[in-house]
Amino acid sequence: MKFGTKVVHAGIRPDPTTGAIIPPIYATSTYVLDEVGRDKGYDYTRSSNPTRQVLEENLTALENGTGGVCFSSGMAAVDSMTKLLSAGDHVVSSDDVYGGVSRHFNKVLTRYGLSFSYADTSDPDAVRQAIRPETKMLWVETPTNPLLKVTDLALMAEIAKENDLIFGVDSTFATPVFLRPLEFGADLVVHSTTKYLSGHNQLIGGAVVTNRQDIFDQLKFVQKTIGAVPSPFDCWLALLGIKTLDLRMRAHSAGAQVVAEYLEAHPKVARVAYPGLPSHPQHDIAKAQMSGFSGMLSFELKGGIPAGTAVMNKVKLCALAESLGAVESMITHPATMTHAEVPPEDRRARGLSDGLVRLSVGIEDVEDIIADLDQALATA
Ligand code: PLP
Repeated sequence: MKFGTKVVHAGIRPDPTTGAIIPPIYATSTYVLDEVGRDKGYDYTRSSNPTRQVLEENLTALENGTGGVCFSSGMAAVDSMTKLLSAGDHVVSSDDVYGGVSRHFNKVLTRYGLSFSYADTSDPDAVRQAIRPETKMLWVETPTNPLLKVTDLALMAEIAKENDLIFGVDSTFATPVFLRPLEFGADLVVHSTTKYLSGHNQLIGGAVVTNRQDIFDQLKFVQKTIGAVPSPFDCWLALLGIKTLDLRMRAHSAGAQVVAEYLEAHPKVARVAYPGLPSHPQHDIAKAQMSGFSGMLSFELKGGIPAGTAVMNKVKLCALAESLGAVESMITHPATMTHAEVPPEDRRARGLSDGLVRLSVGIEDVEDIIADLDQALATA
């Protein structure tokens, strides 16, 4: 199947009892056994659920993996993949990651004996230098939230292999429409399905897809043991969203390219980070490993923090909101919102300035998005 067909059909079969074309919402906690030791493939929804299973099979097909496991949030997916590690293990992570991920690594998992080093994963030497004898995982986010840094995944896969590391990628920003990390040698790919995959600001969810049976088995065990599972209704909503993923992502990407070019040419804008701009430091890598540049960008104004704040307060069509990756355009101030808990000195070290504005370009008519930014920038 081609990708545009997979989003509509992969893993989805008409319901065997009724022929329903859309998988039913199996809103049940438990399943009646035929006799002791014989069930119909399901016993308890924390372990598995038919609606969730369709979503897991669909996502597995989209990432060209062999197994997928869904969770109740992107953070639950991130947490569950760290359960592949044990106390004493060390992780090398991209320095620019979603603030919730670094908060979890630094404030929760360090209490359980894991340790973390952060490196600019767009620089292979920095990654090599951060690896220690006890390093067990290389964790890469690409493009990153919020600086849109891009990492060469084939190169990272080589480093991971040389050092016998589990190689995990958070591909939330790219989606499988534009990037399939397993094809570049990653062992597992994580998504916040809250974002583009579901796409309509309608749910919180997460997923891990892998092509390694040992990792899949461990994650299924973690899923049923800890129980951070999405509801059947949320799985059903995610499946509906994914049907239009291919179409939506092309619209997000086309719109973001136009907005990025508009902002880069604007006299009040100091810099724009968007992988689709030739000025992006890793534009060539992005072009080589992604088939599109997705819908996220960030920018800084020459007027610094006051000017950025004025724009975020003045936009009318773009919603001032925490999330990203939905049909509605959303504008965010990372320093006080998504990355507020990253210590200011760490933010500065990774280049995340207090004046940075993040924009998730929706699928509205791009002329309306630009008109909105234009009127806001006029006052900044
Ligand atoms: N990964 C990335 C790149 C994110 O941007 C987010 C949330 O913003 C997450 C993971 C966490 O996902 P969730 O909010 O679904 O827990």
